[in-house]
Amino acid sequence: MNELRNLPSVDRLLQTPQAERWINQYGRPLTLSAIRVTLEQIRKGIEQSPTNLDEERLIRAVEETLNNWTHLTLQPVINATGVILHTNLGRAPLSPSALQSIQTCASGYSTLEFNLAAGRRGKREIHAQQILTRLTGAEDAFVVNNNAAAVLLALSALARRKPVIISRTQLIEIGGGFRVPDVMKQSGAKLIEIGTTNRVHLSDYETALQNYPNALILHAHHSNFRLIGFASEPALTSIAALAHQYQTFVIDDLGSGALLDTSQFGLTHEPTIQESLQAGCDLVCFSGDKLLGGPQAGILVGKAGLLDKIKKHPLARAVRADKLCLAALSATLLHYLKDEALTEIPVWRMIAAPQEEIRRRALRWQAQLSAGNVIGGVSTVGGGSLPEETLPTFLLAFSVPKADRFLARLREGDPAIIARIENDQVLLDPRTVLPQQEEELITKLQRLLTKHH
Ligand SMILES: *Cc1c(COP(=O)(O)O)cnc(C)c1O
Repeated sequence: MNELRNLPSVDRLLQTPQAERWINQYGRPLTLSAIRVTLEQIRKGIEQSPTNLDEERLIRAVEETLNNWTHLTLQPVINATGVILHTNLGRAPLSPSALQSIQTCASGYSTLEFNLAAGRRGKREIHAQQILTRLTGAEDAFVVNNNAAAVLLALSALARRKPVIISRTQLIEIGGGFRVPDVMKQSGAKLIEIGTTNRVHLSDYETALQNYPNALILHAHHSNFRLIGFASEPALTSIAALAHQYQTFVIDDLGSGALLDTSQFGLTHEPTIQESLQAGCDLVCFSGDKLLGGPQAGILVGKAGLLDKIKKHPLARAVRADKLCLAALSATLLHYLKDEALTEIPVWRMIAAPQEEIRRRALRWQAQLSAGNVIGGVSTVGGGSLPEETLPTFLLAFSVPKADRFLARLREGDPAIIARIENDQVLLDPRTVLPQQEEELITKLQRLLTKHH
Protein backbone atom coordinates (compact mmCIF):
# COMPACT_ATOMS: atom_id res chain seq x y z
CA MET A 1 0.00 0.00 0.00
CA ASN A 2 2.82 2.31 -0.95
CA GLU A 3 0.44 4.49 -2.92
CA LEU A 4 -1.61 5.26 0.18
CA ARG A 5 1.42 6.41 2.11
CA ASN A 6 2.39 8.61 -0.82
CA LEU A 7 -0.90 10.50 -0.66
CA PRO A 8 -0.22 14.06 0.44
CA SER A 9 -1.78 15.08 3.76
CA VAL A 10 -4.49 17.69 4.13
CA ASP A 11 -1.91 20.03 5.61
CA ARG A 12 0.47 19.54 2.69
CA LEU A 13 -2.27 20.38 0.23
CA LEU A 14 -3.23 23.45 2.21
CA GLN A 15 0.30 24.79 1.66
CA THR A 16 -0.02 24.74 -2.13
CA PRO A 17 -0.63 27.96 -4.09
CA GLN A 18 -3.83 26.40 -5.48
CA ALA A 19 -5.22 25.99 -1.97
CA GLU A 20 -4.58 29.64 -1.30
CA ARG A 21 -6.60 30.49 -4.37
CA TRP A 22 -9.41 28.12 -3.35
CA ILE A 23 -9.55 29.68 0.11
CA ASN A 24 -9.83 33.12 -1.47
CA GLN A 25 -12.52 32.01 -3.83
CA TYR A 26 -14.55 29.55 -1.77
CA GLY A 27 -13.62 30.22 1.86
CA ARG A 28 -11.58 28.07 4.22
CA PRO A 29 -14.22 25.68 5.59
CA LEU A 30 -15.45 24.61 2.15
CA THR A 31 -11.91 24.23 0.81
CA LEU A 32 -10.94 22.12 3.80
CA SER A 33 -13.88 19.83 3.46
CA ALA A 34 -13.38 19.51 -0.32
CA ILE A 35 -9.76 18.43 0.30
CA ARG A 36 -10.85 15.94 2.97
CA VAL A 37 -13.66 14.45 0.93
CA THR A 38 -11.53 14.19 -2.22
CA LEU A 39 -8.63 12.58 -0.35
CA GLU A 40 -11.01 10.11 1.23
CA GLN A 41 -12.52 9.19 -2.15
CA ILE A 42 -9.08 8.71 -3.67
CA ARG A 43 -7.91 6.63 -0.69
CA LYS A 44 -10.87 4.31 -1.17
CA GLY A 45 -10.18 4.13 -4.90
CA ILE A 46 -6.54 3.21 -4.31
CA GLU A 47 -7.48 0.51 -1.82
CA GLN A 48 -9.64 -1.12 -4.44
CA SER A 49 -7.24 -0.79 -7.33
CA PRO A 50 -3.77 0.51 -6.47
CA THR A 51 -2.56 3.18 -8.86
CA ASN A 52 0.01 5.90 -8.69
CA LEU A 53 -1.32 9.29 -7.92
CA ASP A 54 0.58 12.47 -8.49
CA GLU A 55 -0.16 15.70 -6.70
CA GLU A 56 -1.29 17.40 -9.87
CA ARG A 57 -4.09 14.93 -10.38
CA LEU A 58 -5.11 15.29 -6.79
CA ILE A 59 -5.30 19.06 -7.12
CA ARG A 60 -7.45 18.70 -10.21
CA ALA A 61 -9.79 16.38 -8.31
CA VAL A 62 -10.19 18.85 -5.43
CA GLU A 63 -10.81 21.61 -7.93
CA GLU A 64 -13.54 19.53 -9.51
CA THR A 65 -15.15 18.83 -6.13
CA LEU A 66 -15.20 22.54 -5.36
CA ASN A 67 -16.65 23.34 -8.78
CA ASN A 68 -19.38 20.77 -8.32
CA TRP A 69 -20.31 22.03 -4.89
CA THR A 70 -20.49 25.69 -5.87
CA HIS A 71 -21.95 25.31 -9.32
CA LEU A 72 -25.34 27.04 -9.46
CA THR A 73 -27.90 24.82 -11.09
CA LEU A 74 -30.14 27.76 -11.93
CA GLN A 75 -28.17 29.59 -14.57
CA PRO A 76 -29.00 31.83 -17.51
CA VAL A 77 -29.29 30.31 -20.98
CA ILE A 78 -29.73 31.75 -24.45
CA ASN A 79 -33.06 30.63 -25.86
CA ALA A 80 -32.61 30.16 -29.61
CA THR A 81 -35.54 27.74 -29.87
CA GLY A 82 -38.06 30.30 -31.09
CA VAL A 83 -40.51 29.26 -28.36
CA ILE A 84 -41.29 32.60 -26.72
CA LEU A 85 -42.90 31.41 -23.48
CA HIS A 86 -40.73 28.36 -22.89
CA THR A 87 -41.84 26.94 -19.53
CA ASN A 88 -38.66 24.87 -19.15
CA LEU A 89 -36.55 27.96 -19.78
CA GLY A 90 -38.34 30.13 -17.24
CA ARG A 91 -41.15 31.61 -19.36
CA ALA A 92 -41.14 35.42 -19.66
CA PRO A 93 -37.88 37.39 -19.50
CA LEU A 94 -38.46 40.63 -17.58
CA SER A 95 -38.31 44.20 -18.87
CA PRO A 96 -35.44 46.46 -17.80
CA SER A 97 -37.73 48.47 -15.57
CA ALA A 98 -39.14 45.33 -13.91
CA LEU A 99 -35.56 44.31 -13.13
CA GLN A 100 -34.79 47.81 -11.91
CA SER A 101 -37.79 47.64 -9.63
CA ILE A 102 -36.63 44.34 -8.12
CA GLN A 103 -33.17 45.77 -7.65
CA THR A 104 -34.31 48.91 -5.88
CA CYS A 105 -36.96 47.26 -3.71
CA ALA A 106 -34.95 44.22 -2.73
CA SER A 107 -31.48 45.60 -2.19
CA GLY A 108 -32.79 47.52 0.81
CA TYR A 109 -36.00 47.86 2.78
CA SER A 110 -39.33 48.73 1.19
CA THR A 111 -42.94 49.68 1.91
CA LEU A 112 -44.01 46.04 1.43
CA GLU A 113 -46.35 46.21 4.43
CA PHE A 114 -45.84 49.74 5.60
CA ASN A 115 -48.06 52.77 5.17
CA LEU A 116 -45.77 55.77 4.87
CA ALA A 117 -48.48 58.40 5.39
CA ALA A 118 -49.78 56.79 8.56
CA GLY A 119 -46.37 55.64 9.76
CA ARG A 120 -47.60 52.19 10.63
CA ARG A 121 -48.34 48.75 9.29
CA GLY A 122 -49.77 48.75 5.78
CA LYS A 123 -51.09 46.10 3.41
CA ARG A 124 -49.10 43.98 1.00
CA GLU A 125 -52.25 43.49 -1.11
CA ILE A 126 -52.31 47.08 -2.38
CA HIS A 127 -49.16 46.96 -4.47
CA ALA A 128 -50.29 45.73 -7.85
CA GLN A 129 -53.98 46.17 -7.02
CA GLN A 130 -54.50 49.73 -8.18
CA ILE A 131 -52.82 49.24 -11.56
CA LEU A 132 -54.65 45.94 -12.09
CA THR A 133 -58.07 47.42 -11.41
CA ARG A 134 -57.33 50.42 -13.61
CA LEU A 135 -56.12 48.23 -16.46
CA THR A 136 -58.90 45.67 -16.36
CA GLY A 137 -61.82 47.62 -14.96
CA ALA A 138 -62.26 44.98 -12.22
CA GLU A 139 -63.45 46.05 -8.77
CA ASP A 140 -60.57 44.40 -6.97
CA ALA A 141 -57.43 42.32 -7.52
CA PHE A 142 -55.18 40.00 -5.56
CA VAL A 143 -51.78 38.49 -6.39
CA VAL A 144 -50.52 35.06 -5.34
CA ASN A 145 -47.56 32.85 -6.16
CA ASN A 146 -48.78 31.36 -9.45
CA ASN A 147 -51.99 30.70 -11.32
CA ALA A 148 -52.31 27.12 -10.07
CA ALA A 149 -52.39 28.61 -6.56
CA ALA A 150 -54.87 31.28 -7.68
CA VAL A 151 -57.34 28.66 -8.94
CA LEU A 152 -56.88 26.47 -5.87
CA LEU A 153 -57.33 29.44 -3.56
CA ALA A 154 -60.40 30.75 -5.39
CA LEU A 155 -62.09 27.36 -5.26
CA SER A 156 -61.08 26.72 -1.65
CA ALA A 157 -62.43 30.08 -0.54
CA LEU A 158 -65.60 30.12 -2.65
CA ALA A 159 -66.52 26.53 -3.47
CA ARG A 160 -65.64 24.32 -0.52
CA ARG A 161 -68.32 21.65 -0.15
CA LYS A 162 -70.22 23.31 -2.98
CA PRO A 163 -71.06 21.86 -6.37
CA VAL A 164 -68.94 23.39 -9.13
CA ILE A 165 -70.19 23.00 -12.68
CA ILE A 166 -67.58 22.48 -15.37
CA SER A 167 -67.83 21.35 -18.95
CA ARG A 168 -66.13 18.07 -19.97
CA THR A 169 -64.53 20.03 -22.80
CA GLN A 170 -62.55 21.91 -20.16
CA LEU A 171 -61.35 19.14 -17.84
CA ILE A 172 -57.81 19.72 -18.97
CA GLU A 173 -54.32 18.88 -17.81
CA ILE A 174 -51.84 21.62 -18.57
CA GLY A 175 -48.69 19.70 -17.65
CA GLY A 176 -46.55 19.94 -14.56
CA GLY A 177 -49.23 18.03 -12.68
CA PHE A 178 -51.96 20.67 -12.96
CA ARG A 179 -55.21 18.91 -13.76
CA VAL A 180 -58.39 20.92 -13.43
CA PRO A 181 -60.45 18.05 -11.93
CA ASP A 182 -57.74 17.29 -9.35
CA VAL A 183 -57.40 20.90 -8.30
CA MET A 184 -61.18 21.09 -7.92
CA LYS A 185 -61.22 18.04 -5.68
CA GLN A 186 -58.30 19.32 -3.64
CA SER A 187 -60.22 22.52 -2.89
CA GLY A 188 -63.11 20.54 -1.45
CA ALA A 189 -65.44 21.42 -4.32
CA LYS A 190 -67.89 18.88 -5.63
CA LEU A 191 -67.26 18.37 -9.33
CA ILE A 192 -70.36 18.50 -11.55
CA GLU A 193 -69.35 17.53 -15.08
CA ILE A 194 -71.62 18.57 -17.91
CA GLY A 195 -71.67 18.12 -21.70
CA THR A 196 -69.43 15.74 -23.59
CA THR A 197 -65.73 15.76 -24.48
CA ASN A 198 -66.38 17.71 -27.67
CA ARG A 199 -69.63 19.59 -27.08
CA VAL A 200 -71.43 21.44 -24.34
CA HIS A 201 -74.60 23.51 -24.67
CA LEU A 202 -76.07 26.34 -22.67
CA SER A 203 -78.93 23.99 -21.81
CA ASP A 204 -76.41 21.67 -20.11
CA TYR A 205 -75.41 24.55 -17.85
CA GLU A 206 -79.05 25.43 -17.18
CA THR A 207 -80.01 21.86 -16.28
CA ALA A 208 -77.09 21.65 -13.86
CA LEU A 209 -78.01 24.98 -12.26
CA GLN A 210 -81.56 23.72 -11.78
CA ASN A 211 -80.34 20.45 -10.24
CA TYR A 212 -77.76 22.11 -7.98
CA PRO A 213 -79.22 25.38 -6.71
CA ASN A 214 -76.10 26.44 -4.75
CA ALA A 215 -73.64 25.58 -7.52
CA LEU A 216 -71.17 27.93 -9.16
CA ILE A 217 -69.59 27.68 -12.60
CA LEU A 218 -65.91 27.19 -13.42
CA HIS A 219 -64.82 28.02 -16.93
CA ALA A 220 -61.29 27.00 -17.94
CA HIS A 221 -59.19 28.04 -20.90
CA HIS A 222 -58.15 25.02 -22.97
CA SER A 223 -54.56 26.08 -22.52
CA ASN A 224 -52.21 23.93 -24.61
CA PHE A 225 -54.92 21.92 -26.31
CA ARG A 226 -57.36 22.78 -29.09
CA LEU A 227 -60.94 21.74 -29.49
CA ILE A 228 -61.56 21.37 -33.21
CA GLY A 229 -63.90 19.55 -35.57
CA PHE A 230 -67.42 18.76 -34.39
CA ALA A 231 -67.11 20.78 -31.21
CA SER A 232 -68.84 23.69 -29.54
CA GLU A 233 -69.10 25.61 -26.32
CA PRO A 234 -71.54 28.42 -25.54
CA ALA A 235 -70.20 31.99 -25.44
CA LEU A 236 -68.86 33.11 -22.09
CA THR A 237 -71.36 36.00 -22.13
CA SER A 238 -74.26 33.56 -22.26
CA ILE A 239 -72.83 31.38 -19.49
CA ALA A 240 -72.30 34.40 -17.24
CA ALA A 241 -75.77 35.78 -17.95
CA LEU A 242 -77.29 32.41 -17.11
CA ALA A 243 -75.27 32.16 -13.87
CA HIS A 244 -76.48 35.60 -12.81
CA GLN A 245 -80.04 34.66 -13.64
CA TYR A 246 -79.61 31.79 -11.16
CA GLN A 247 -78.05 34.12 -8.55
CA THR A 248 -74.66 32.49 -8.82
CA PHE A 249 -71.31 33.37 -10.39
CA VAL A 250 -68.60 32.30 -12.85
CA ILE A 251 -64.90 31.83 -12.17
CA ASP A 252 -62.82 31.95 -15.35
CA ASP A 253 -59.39 30.31 -15.32
CA LEU A 254 -57.99 32.24 -18.23
CA GLY A 255 -54.47 30.79 -18.05
CA SER A 256 -52.22 32.94 -20.17
CA GLY A 257 -53.59 36.33 -19.15
CA ALA A 258 -53.38 38.38 -22.33
CA LEU A 259 -54.04 42.08 -21.92
CA LEU A 260 -53.34 42.80 -25.60
CA ASP A 261 -54.89 41.38 -28.74
CA THR A 262 -52.72 38.67 -30.30
CA SER A 263 -54.64 38.81 -33.59
CA GLN A 264 -52.86 42.02 -34.60
CA PHE A 265 -49.79 39.82 -35.21
CA GLY A 266 -51.47 37.26 -37.40
CA LEU A 267 -52.18 34.87 -34.53
CA THR A 268 -55.57 33.60 -33.45
CA HIS A 269 -57.27 35.92 -31.04
CA GLU A 270 -56.37 34.87 -27.50
CA PRO A 271 -59.20 35.79 -25.07
CA THR A 272 -58.14 38.79 -22.99
CA ILE A 273 -58.72 39.53 -19.33
CA GLN A 274 -60.81 42.58 -20.21
CA GLU A 275 -63.05 40.48 -22.47
CA SER A 276 -63.56 37.88 -19.80
CA LEU A 277 -64.68 40.55 -17.34
CA GLN A 278 -66.83 42.27 -19.95
CA ALA A 279 -68.47 38.95 -20.70
CA GLY A 280 -69.65 39.03 -17.09
CA CYS A 281 -67.25 36.64 -15.37
CA ASP A 282 -67.17 37.44 -11.68
CA LEU A 283 -63.65 36.26 -11.03
CA VAL A 284 -60.80 35.80 -13.52
CA CYS A 285 -57.52 33.99 -12.74
CA PHE A 286 -54.37 34.13 -14.86
CA SER A 287 -50.58 33.77 -14.77
CA GLY A 288 -48.09 36.61 -14.40
CA ASP A 289 -45.36 35.01 -16.51
CA LYS A 290 -47.22 33.90 -19.62
CA LEU A 291 -48.61 36.46 -22.09
CA LEU A 292 -48.60 39.11 -19.37
CA GLY A 293 -44.81 39.01 -19.66
CA GLY A 294 -44.00 39.50 -15.99
CA PRO A 295 -42.72 37.43 -13.05
CA GLN A 296 -44.21 34.13 -11.92
CA ALA A 297 -47.48 35.08 -10.27
CA GLY A 298 -51.13 34.15 -10.10
CA ILE A 299 -53.51 37.06 -10.44
CA LEU A 300 -57.16 37.16 -9.41
CA VAL A 301 -59.35 40.04 -10.58
CA GLY A 302 -63.09 40.51 -10.21
CA LYS A 303 -65.93 41.35 -7.83
CA ALA A 304 -64.91 42.91 -4.53
CA GLY A 305 -67.17 40.61 -2.50
CA LEU A 306 -65.50 37.49 -3.88
CA LEU A 307 -62.00 38.90 -3.48
CA ASP A 308 -62.74 39.79 0.16
CA LYS A 309 -63.48 36.15 0.90
CA ILE A 310 -60.43 35.02 -1.02
CA LYS A 311 -58.06 37.37 0.81
CA LYS A 312 -59.37 36.20 4.18
CA HIS A 313 -58.95 32.50 3.46
CA PRO A 314 -56.03 30.86 5.36
CA LEU A 315 -54.53 29.58 2.10
CA ALA A 316 -54.13 33.19 0.93
CA ARG A 317 -51.33 33.65 3.44
CA ALA A 318 -49.67 30.41 2.34
CA VAL A 319 -49.60 31.33 -1.35
CA ARG A 320 -49.03 35.08 -1.11
CA ALA A 321 -46.73 36.87 -3.51
CA ASP A 322 -43.31 37.99 -2.29
CA LYS A 323 -41.80 41.44 -2.68
CA LEU A 324 -39.65 40.52 -5.70
CA CYS A 325 -42.73 39.35 -7.52
CA LEU A 326 -44.80 42.40 -6.56
CA ALA A 327 -42.00 44.77 -7.56
CA ALA A 328 -41.57 43.17 -10.99
CA LEU A 329 -45.28 42.69 -11.58
CA SER A 330 -46.16 46.31 -10.78
CA ALA A 331 -43.44 47.58 -13.12
CA THR A 332 -44.61 45.20 -15.88
CA LEU A 333 -48.23 46.26 -15.50
CA LEU A 334 -47.19 49.88 -15.67
CA HIS A 335 -45.95 49.29 -19.23
CA TYR A 336 -49.52 48.43 -20.23
CA LEU A 337 -50.92 51.46 -18.45
CA LYS A 338 -48.43 53.69 -20.28
CA ASP A 339 -49.21 51.99 -23.61
CA GLU A 340 -45.61 50.89 -24.09
CA ALA A 341 -46.04 47.12 -23.60
CA LEU A 342 -45.21 46.25 -27.21
CA THR A 343 -41.84 47.93 -27.02
CA GLU A 344 -40.91 47.41 -23.36
CA ILE A 345 -42.09 43.91 -22.48
CA PRO A 346 -39.72 41.32 -23.97
CA VAL A 347 -42.37 38.68 -24.82
CA TRP A 348 -44.47 41.23 -26.66
CA ARG A 349 -41.43 42.61 -28.45
CA MET A 350 -40.72 39.07 -29.61
CA ILE A 351 -44.31 38.50 -30.73
CA ALA A 352 -44.38 41.85 -32.51
CA ALA A 353 -40.91 41.56 -34.07
CA PRO A 354 -41.21 42.29 -37.82
CA GLN A 355 -40.04 39.42 -40.03
CA GLU A 356 -37.69 41.73 -41.85
CA GLU A 357 -35.90 42.58 -38.60
CA ILE A 358 -35.52 38.89 -37.76
CA ARG A 359 -34.16 38.20 -41.22
CA ARG A 360 -31.63 41.01 -40.89
CA ARG A 361 -30.41 39.60 -37.58
CA ALA A 362 -30.07 36.10 -39.01
CA LEU A 363 -28.16 37.47 -42.01
CA ARG A 364 -25.87 39.46 -39.72
CA TRP A 365 -25.09 36.33 -37.68
CA GLN A 366 -24.39 34.43 -40.86
CA ALA A 367 -22.02 37.15 -42.06
CA GLN A 368 -20.22 37.33 -38.72
CA LEU A 369 -19.78 33.56 -38.66
CA SER A 370 -19.24 33.03 -42.37
CA ALA A 371 -21.31 29.90 -41.87
CA GLY A 372 -24.86 28.65 -42.03
CA ASN A 373 -27.85 29.44 -44.23
CA VAL A 374 -30.72 31.76 -43.54
CA ILE A 375 -33.98 29.92 -44.13
CA GLY A 376 -37.66 30.52 -43.47
CA GLY A 377 -39.30 28.77 -40.53
CA VAL A 378 -41.68 29.23 -37.64
CA SER A 379 -41.59 30.43 -34.04
CA THR A 380 -44.26 29.56 -31.47
CA VAL A 381 -45.74 31.44 -28.54
CA GLY A 382 -45.86 28.53 -26.07
CA GLY A 383 -46.75 28.83 -22.39
CA GLY A 384 -50.13 27.16 -22.71
CA SER A 385 -51.44 29.71 -25.15
CA LEU A 386 -52.19 29.50 -28.85
CA PRO A 387 -51.44 25.78 -29.38
CA GLU A 388 -50.47 24.81 -32.94
CA GLU A 389 -50.11 28.47 -33.84
CA THR A 390 -46.96 29.74 -35.40
CA LEU A 391 -45.31 33.02 -36.30
CA PRO A 392 -43.32 33.06 -39.55
CA THR A 393 -39.65 33.65 -38.83
CA PHE A 394 -36.14 33.36 -40.26
CA LEU A 395 -33.63 30.88 -38.93
CA LEU A 396 -29.91 30.48 -39.13
CA ALA A 397 -29.42 26.83 -40.11
CA PHE A 398 -26.23 24.80 -39.82
CA SER A 399 -25.71 21.55 -41.65
CA VAL A 400 -23.05 20.06 -39.42
CA PRO A 401 -22.02 16.44 -39.11
CA LYS A 402 -23.52 14.87 -35.98
CA ALA A 403 -26.04 17.63 -35.41
CA ASP A 404 -27.10 16.27 -32.02
CA ARG A 405 -23.52 16.42 -30.79
CA PHE A 406 -23.27 20.02 -31.93
CA LEU A 407 -26.51 20.76 -30.10
CA ALA A 408 -25.08 19.21 -26.93
CA ARG A 409 -21.92 21.31 -27.22
CA LEU A 410 -24.05 24.43 -27.53
CA ARG A 411 -25.50 23.53 -24.13
CA GLU A 412 -22.07 23.12 -22.51
CA GLY A 413 -20.33 25.90 -20.62
CA ASP A 414 -21.43 29.45 -20.14
CA PRO A 415 -23.63 30.68 -21.72
CA ALA A 416 -25.56 27.57 -22.62
CA ILE A 417 -27.37 27.95 -25.92
CA ILE A 418 -30.59 26.02 -26.44
CA ALA A 419 -31.39 25.35 -30.09
CA ARG A 420 -33.29 22.73 -32.04
CA ILE A 421 -32.73 20.23 -34.84
CA GLU A 422 -34.93 19.77 -37.86
CA ASN A 423 -34.02 17.62 -40.87
CA ASP A 424 -30.50 17.11 -39.49
CA GLN A 425 -29.92 20.84 -39.36
CA VAL A 426 -29.24 22.84 -36.21
CA LEU A 427 -31.61 25.82 -36.19
CA LEU A 428 -31.25 29.11 -34.34
CA ASP A 429 -34.20 31.49 -34.16
CA PRO A 430 -33.21 35.14 -33.57
CA ARG A 431 -36.74 35.96 -32.36
CA THR A 432 -36.14 34.62 -28.84
CA VAL A 433 -32.49 35.66 -28.53
CA LEU A 434 -32.31 38.88 -26.55
CA PRO A 435 -30.25 41.61 -28.28
CA GLN A 436 -27.84 41.81 -25.33
CA GLN A 437 -27.05 38.09 -25.73
CA GLU A 438 -26.08 38.27 -29.40
CA GLU A 439 -22.40 38.93 -28.88
CA GLU A 440 -21.99 35.97 -26.51
CA LEU A 441 -23.93 33.79 -28.90
CA ILE A 442 -21.71 34.67 -31.85
CA THR A 443 -18.49 34.25 -29.88
CA LYS A 444 -19.51 30.82 -28.69
CA LEU A 445 -20.67 29.74 -32.14
CA GLN A 446 -17.42 30.92 -33.71
CA ARG A 447 -15.47 28.84 -31.23
CA LEU A 448 -17.60 25.74 -31.71
CA LEU A 449 -17.79 25.91 -35.49
CA THR A 450 -14.02 25.96 -35.85
CA LYS A 451 -13.70 22.97 -33.48
CA HIS A 452 -16.64 20.89 -34.62
CA HIS A 453 -16.02 18.37 -37.37
C1 LIG B 1 -50.83 27.86 -17.24
C2 LIG B 1 -52.17 27.61 -16.73
C3 LIG B 1 -52.41 27.40 -15.35
C4 LIG B 1 -51.29 27.37 -14.35
O1 LIG B 1 -50.65 28.58 -14.23
P1 LIG B 1 -49.22 28.69 -13.49
O2 LIG B 1 -48.99 30.16 -13.39
O3 LIG B 1 -48.25 27.96 -14.33
O4 LIG B 1 -49.37 28.05 -12.14
C5 LIG B 1 -53.68 27.18 -14.95
N1 LIG B 1 -54.71 27.15 -15.82
C6 LIG B 1 -54.53 27.36 -17.15
C7 LIG B 1 -55.71 27.33 -18.06
C8 LIG B 1 -53.25 27.59 -17.64
O5 LIG B 1 -53.07 27.79 -18.95
